[in-house]
Amino acid sequence: MSSGRSIAVLVIIAIAVGGGYAWGRSDEHAGREAPLTETASAKAPELDVYYPGAEPVAEDEMRVVALGTGMPSPRPKQAAACWLVELGNGDKFLFDIGAGCHERLAAQKIPYDLLDKVFFGHLHVDHMGDLPTFWLGGTTMNRLTPLRIWGPSGATPEYGTAHAMKLMEQMYIWDIGTRGGVIDFRGGQLDVTEFPFDGVNKVIFEENGVTIRSIPAVHGLDGAVSFILEWNGLKFAYSSDTIPNKWWIEHTKGADIAIHECFLPSTLLVTKQGFAPLEALNVGTQGHTSPEQFGKVMSMTEPRLAVGYHFFNDFDVQPEVTRRVRKTYDGPLALALDYMVFNVTKEDIRVRMSAVDEEIWPSPAIKKKNPPDTSKVIPFSDFTKSGVVPLPEVVQPIYDEVNQTYGTDYEPMFK
Ligand SMILES: [Zn+2]
Ligand SMILES: [Zn+2]
Repeated sequence: MSSGRSIAVLVIIAIAVGGGYAWGRSDEHAGREAPLTETASAKAPELDVYYPGAEPVAEDEMRVVALGTGMPSPRPKQAAACWLVELGNGDKFLFDIGAGCHERLAAQKIPYDLLDKVFFGHLHVDHMGDLPTFWLGGTTMNRLTPLRIWGPSGATPEYGTAHAMKLMEQMYIWDIGTRGGVIDFRGGQLDVTEFPFDGVNKVIFEENGVTIRSIPAVHGLDGAVSFILEWNGLKFAYSSDTIPNKWWIEHTKGADIAIHECFLPSTLLVTKQGFAPLEALNVGTQGHTSPEQFGKVMSMTEPRLAVGYHFFNDFDVQPEVTRRVRKTYDGPLALALDYMVFNVTKEDIRVRMSAVDEEIWPSPAIKKKNPPDTSKVIPFSDFTKSGVVPLPEVVQPIYDEVNQTYGTDYEPMFK
């Protein structure tokens, strides 16, 4: 995308079919009547665009934001899997944090203390690759609350989420060592909950009127799951990755919004992705869900809105994916792109794209910051210290300026 405040969406790729939801603004949507402050939306109410940070979630509303709709292969236009769910009660949930999604998440301008709940459907890198940057980078984005993580067990403990998180903390020991004594590092703590991957519609989260259940998924290895979130009479279902399975079909029926993988057609996996035909068939129908399979699953479960994701959604791909989905499904459908936004209420589901501000800065901390815990400082060796050129004539005036401005009396570490 170009620099500056650019509207991310030039091509809207999704199809509105039937009743129940509509593109753009329709006046009967309750969420629209929420009072808006002086925002771009308020000044230009007819724009069918979502401005992150400019609209409160209405009390009865579930807002779902696509932050990663692509594939394991990286591309600027679409990050790997990540979905944000924001509820009218103030709660926010992240489902998967795939590679490349973190900047899209940061662009939502949400204080990081509110982004403290992450649910992993499975541990593929396209579903958890940006966790380290979200976790540790989040401490520089003013997160002061421990990061809570939920993820499935595996066939054996070393394939489970808890083991992966333990190793991740060990892997980033150097990074953690640089920060502990320098900033308020409470946001660097992890609070991990591993739940059995074979639980069927078992509650894994229940707080503040929100219930999240997991169902097994069939993908990769034992240890993949899908999620169902329910709140205020609204039901959100998220497949993460799975091929069609009995648990999804039984337990997601009638969801208000069902986000399910819809992989590239096998023919395009050959021509666009460079797969051999057998690879394409294996990956496209036995490891992932083809558009035809996706459509069939949606026909069997009849969500108010079916959302397909996990394919490169381009002008020359979308018609072919749509044609194949329509062989097996004729209900409401959106084919997701990054920054697509869904405002879900009982009356309406509104679908828009976002206008993204690329020049974002960290949102302020919600809690009061503590001074750094200096007992956590790991000192340099005498060798490294011997290399410092302290430049006091340059550095001291910087300290003087800050001390005068903020009424402090700090001194340089290196003199
Ligand atoms: Zn996967
Ligand atoms: Zn995936």
